[in-house]
Amino acid sequence: MIHLNWGCLLTLLHLVVANPVSDDMLLTQEQREYLEGSTKNPHAKNVMLWSQYYWKNSIFVYSFGEGLSTSDKKTIIQAMSSITRQTSCVRFRQTRNRQEPQVIIQRKDSGCWSYVGFLNRMEQPLNLGSGCMSIGTIQHELLHALAIVHMHNDPLRDKFVKILYENIQDDMINNFRIYDSKDVADLGYGYDYRSIMHYGSYDFSKNSKRTIIPLQNVQIGQRSGLSPKDILKLKHIYCT
Ligand SMILES: [Zn+2]
Repeated sequence: MIHLNWGCLLTLLHLVVANPVSDDMLLTQEQREYLEGSTKNPHAKNVMLWSQYYWKNSIFVYSFGEGLSTSDKKTIIQAMSSITRQTSCVRFRQTRNRQEPQVIIQRKDSGCWSYVGFLNRMEQPLNLGSGCMSIGTIQHELLHALAIVHMHNDPLRDKFVKILYENIQDDMINNFRIYDSKDVADLGYGYDYRSIMHYGSYDFSKNSKRTIIPLQNVQIGQRSGLSPKDILKLKHIYCT
């Protein structure tokens, strides 16, 4: 049984109300240690490679889980087809075999969220709750599942954006950390304000004030489709 106290319920309520299209990138403990550094495991970076989270043979294996309508499935397949078309090598294969590692795409819980990369699990959920069923938002979550982290986690991001921590919802501050790992960052393509993996200026604000200010006169947080650099990164990872 799950016990929720009032504080917890209020936080959940606030999230649902303030951010119907909330996005969360879920990391395993091992990934967190790798990306953020760990006092317990200072050698994490030396004993693993981020590429272990890439899908093998560039094939993303998935199945449809609870709660999706026929029209939802059609939209998800469109989002996938567009990634395949633009990258020419990232492929998506639906499976009904529960014995192979797969992402289960579901509309079960609230929020739009995904784990990052291939985790070699039979049940790796990717949730598309209410408000998540647009091509761009689906592609954002699919890119997480393809091992891509947020653009604003880039080690050089402070040269490009200013983060206003005082305006960020307390339990979302983790999503604004810098990940100091070259192999998960810009992959040599430079900072990308246009990335579909960049948050918008007001995302996860607790007071309707901005949480991210670009240091140039540009828009951030688009969810209309992959940027040219998003495509280059996917090709870099999956087409070589
Ligand atoms: Zn995200």
